[in-house]
Amino acid sequence: MADLQRAVNSLTCLVLFLLTSLSSLSSRSSAEELQWDHNGYVLYCPCMGRFGNQADHFLGSLAFAKMLNRTLAVPPWIVYRHHTPPYTNVHVPYSDFFKLESLSAFHRVVSLEDFMEKLADEHWPSGQRNAYCFETAALRSPDKKSCPMKDGNPFGPFWDHIGVEFDRSVLFGGISFSPYHQPQWMKRFPPSDHPVLALPGAPAQFPVLEEHVGLQRFVVWADSMAGEGERLIADLLTRPYVGIHLRIGIDWQNACRLLDRGEVGPHFMASPQCVGYNRQTALPLTSTMCLPDLTEIRRAVRLWVKKTSARSVYIATDSESHSRDIETLFRGKVKVVSLQPDSAQLDLYILGQADHFIGNCVSSFSAFVKRERDVHGLSSSFFGMDKPGKLSHVEL
Ligand code: GDP
Ligand code: MN
Repeated sequence: MADLQRAVNSLTCLVLFLLTSLSSLSSRSSAEELQWDHNGYVLYCPCMGRFGNQADHFLGSLAFAKMLNRTLAVPPWIVYRHHTPPYTNVHVPYSDFFKLESLSAFHRVVSLEDFMEKLADEHWPSGQRNAYCFETAALRSPDKKSCPMKDGNPFGPFWDHIGVEFDRSVLFGGISFSPYHQPQWMKRFPPSDHPVLALPGAPAQFPVLEEHVGLQRFVVWADSMAGEGERLIADLLTRPYVGIHLRIGIDWQNACRLLDRGEVGPHFMASPQCVGYNRQTALPLTSTMCLPDLTEIRRAVRLWVKKTSARSVYIATDSESHSRDIETLFRGKVKVVSLQPDSAQLDLYILGQADHFIGNCVSSFSAFVKRERDVHGLSSSFFGMDKPGKLSHVEL
């Protein structure tokens, strides 16, 4: 009887213990997740460009949120389906590709989805949702004082997806997103009166500023992406392998024509990554660097395959892979692989892991890979530039 009593007692204890630890666990994690930040929030739509542009803007926005000491509501990636039905944009949560928690080592973040689901009803209710934009942006609206938050694609679909209608516009001018204007931001928009700064676009520059390039190290692949990428590498490639990014499709041919016509200088899209950020000392940007022809592709691939004793080549491309041409270069002794994956991110992952990477200097898609490889001390070059200069990366 005493035994039974003891058993019941200890069972009760165990149940109580489990219950209390469970509830403390859940209350702790929900307190961590759900606590409202009285320093305020930054929300924005990654409404310019595709993945590479959005990634550049993301780094700058992260720095901006930190500068204002506001939590960054990390938006989903906008993926465009121009060629696949139903042609509507897909909004991919940040954490589908990358670890949200890795950003926290740099600054406070919450996913925009969690912000809406768990915080907005109470702290940013409908009726109190201000949009913030430059006066110049509002000039385009019919009444000349409304922020163009939902005008057109991808703006409308983005905020609809998030479930936001804006109630009022707050305009600003004479300030930029640079640290120089930090005091003005704090003074104009104290978090007590302006808890949520919701912006039509990223509070950042394109291309990413030199001082923000290093923030790439907080952008860490999600386990699912790394797992899938590693599986493909193990199944298809033999190390050492050289990864190349061919940005040669029709949109790119048109863009590079601007360079050929002399309508743009050496600073063209992502090119500061290889010509240097300083306009005074920037190296020339050649036509081949923007749009490498087959001769240059073959030259660079042959050079780096030889230098690294590569046994395979991975080709990521926006259009043609030229895999036959590259295969014949090595008379079948080097395996040439091109996937045309559904997700551009798998290409990025595989390029990021290569023993050497040859990218396109003007492309922000290549720039993502280059930054990630720099974080890990892996070697990269560009078509038309075998030895990209060392940039003076400012540590943050
Ligand atoms: P940028 O235009 O080169 O600066 O880079 P963006 O990322 O802004 O736009 C290019 C887009 O084209 C990418 O986001 C991809 O959707 C697609 N793309 C370009 N190159 C590749 C590639 O090598 N592989 C895949 N899968 N997609 C690519
Ligand atoms: Mn682009």
